[in-house]
Amino acid sequence: MRDTDVTRGGPASQQGMRRANLALVLGHVAREPRSRAELAAATGLTRAAVSSLAEELLNTGLLTESGPAAPSGKVGRPGTALALDPQGPGGIGAEVGVDHLAACVVDLRGEVRSWHRMEIRNRGRLPAAVLADLAELVRRAAGEAALHPAGLALAVPGLVGAAEGVVERASNLGWEGVPAAAELRSSLRATGAHELSALAIDVDNDANLGGLAELWLGGRAEDFLHVSAEAGIGAAVVVGGRLLRGARGYAGELGHVPVRPDGPPCSCGARGCLEQYAGERAVLRAAGLAGAPGDWVALLAGRAVAGDEKVRAALAGAGQMLAVAVAGAVNLLDPAEVVLGGGYAELAPWLLPAMRAELAARVAVRPWSQEWLTASRFGRRGPLLGAAVGVVRAVLADPGRYAQARD
Ligand SMILES: [Zn+2]
Repeated sequence: MRDTDVTRGGPASQQGMRRANLALVLGHVAREPRSRAELAAATGLTRAAVSSLAEELLNTGLLTESGPAAPSGKVGRPGTALALDPQGPGGIGAEVGVDHLAACVVDLRGEVRSWHRMEIRNRGRLPAAVLADLAELVRRAAGEAALHPAGLALAVPGLVGAAEGVVERASNLGWEGVPAAAELRSSLRATGAHELSALAIDVDNDANLGGLAELWLGGRAEDFLHVSAEAGIGAAVVVGGRLLRGARGYAGELGHVPVRPDGPPCSCGARGCLEQYAGERAVLRAAGLAGAPGDWVALLAGRAVAGDEKVRAALAGAGQMLAVAVAGAVNLLDPAEVVLGGGYAELAPWLLPAMRAELAARVAVRPWSQEWLTASRFGRRGPLLGAAVGVVRAVLADPGRYAQARD
């Protein structure tokens, strides 16, 4: 998600000031329902200014009156509380995975209003065919939620570069230079979903979006590393509450960090990358399950729960190599936490012990603590949640722009 916080930055025109104040008022209500008097006290704006701003936010469908506010000693008589409108705009998330497609809608409060997922092998299919199936799921999810759509964000297991909406490379899908936003838009138009096809469509890497879900919904510190397995291995590096994207948008390719300089060749052209030890294919091979069809995470978790020693040993081995790469990142970046997300969250019971032992031996810069390393509660739902929640966060950060786009 691009940063659209209008409350940052320098002096503003009168119109710019009003936009910033709309965001200020909405931001306070987003934290908890407030009366106009409470909002005036919290923001330093006059009662009249708050009333005018609230009126605009009510008319735009972003706020609703939610009954009397709790009396608050300092700020005079209780008034009607203003709250985010649960029938206000919705954020649409869409996701292309190697073995699935998914779409969801969240409301302004970030609550999931619809969620659709289909299992389908997308490797080697034409991108246009994949995105046509996805458009149908998006249409269904949007129809079921029945909220005014504010935008759409697409999670993909690949590199999204500087060109807007273009997937530069998704090797697990066999995609190269795919204009995913434009393709999805034309597929939506073809299904007759004209309102959806007119939306802004943002495309981002799934590991980034999983990390953002953790930042926005997971109650994490401002500095953490989110390590996830989807089709490949990705990481989101959050520094000072912001996602580190790097100079070209490629930051976080933890799967291609070398863990053994003379290791086996990798799909990226290098040797001994982490993916060759802790990626889907490597772990299945070590577990004696090479080429097993279906959901690899569920397969491994099921066998590990049942006490399959070979699977448990394969996961411990993957955990050790994961920790070798993560230790390098921890020593470099000094995050407050390391979070296992995506498929790794479900496999965490068998990855974590080996990871903890290896990290304790390798993180030299400070005393090791168990609490640094935990599993995400969102797991494989993270990227889709991050996509949808990013859309509504953009509305909350700049409601004036949403109002303009709606008119
Ligand atoms: Zn590689």
